[in-house]
Amino acid sequence: MDEFATARARLRERLAARTDASDRVLDAIERVPRHEFVPDPRVNEAYADRPLPIGDDQTISAPHMVAVMCDRLAPESGDAVLEIGTGCGYHAAVMTELGATVSSVEYHGSLADAASTRLDSLGYDVHVRQGDGREGWPEHAPYDSAYLTCAAPEIPDGVLDQTRPGGTVVAPVGRGSQRLLAVTVDEGGGIRDRTDHGGVRFVPLL
Ligand code: SAH
Repeated sequence: MDEFATARARLRERLAARTDASDRVLDAIERVPRHEFVPDPRVNEAYADRPLPIGDDQTISAPHMVAVMCDRLAPESGDAVLEIGTGCGYHAAVMTELGATVSSVEYHGSLADAASTRLDSLGYDVHVRQGDGREGWPEHAPYDSAYLTCAAPEIPDGVLDQTRPGGTVVAPVGRGSQRLLAVTVDEGGGIRDRTDHGGVRFVPLL
């Protein structure tokens, strides 16, 4: 137990009321020490359900958004998952708690380095590299599922090509206004079905 255990339990209750995320996802969120992922001056806000600035004009995603996306992705233990936009590494930590092996690509070298060090020190085995997420991370492909934590005009071909047929990709899509889409990848990297999970606001893909 750390000093934030009560705050985490309260966050879990709020997310249970606000989202339809499964208990499995809520349990994973309750296990991740979000206060380790936010800048020091923000530690007291770590368990509020909102995004926070993390430097380089980027943010840590709001917990309800992480809950909704993890719920749609629903990784099984041992699944290989591609993340575009590591940021501080929080979402990747939640996916790791769900049993996924995450390969994450981050555009900003400073964020990639900091996230990699942080995840290591917390015992989360996540592969992080600096790069342009449009290209995915071919060396670890194929992925059982993939997600973007930055908004793209459309889901990059590199990400679709590296996700196995039948796998799910979850992403905020759109230029001005964005929708959170979940799609199933077809043979040949096309899209089979697509569900719309409503309007969202993510930082744009750089
Ligand atoms: N996953 C984070 C949220 C990250 S915010 C969390 O756990 O809270 C979105 C991230 O996407 C930012 O860190 C930003 O630098 C990164 N990003 C933007 N464009 C990118 C690109 N083309 N390739 C990879 N990462 C990108």
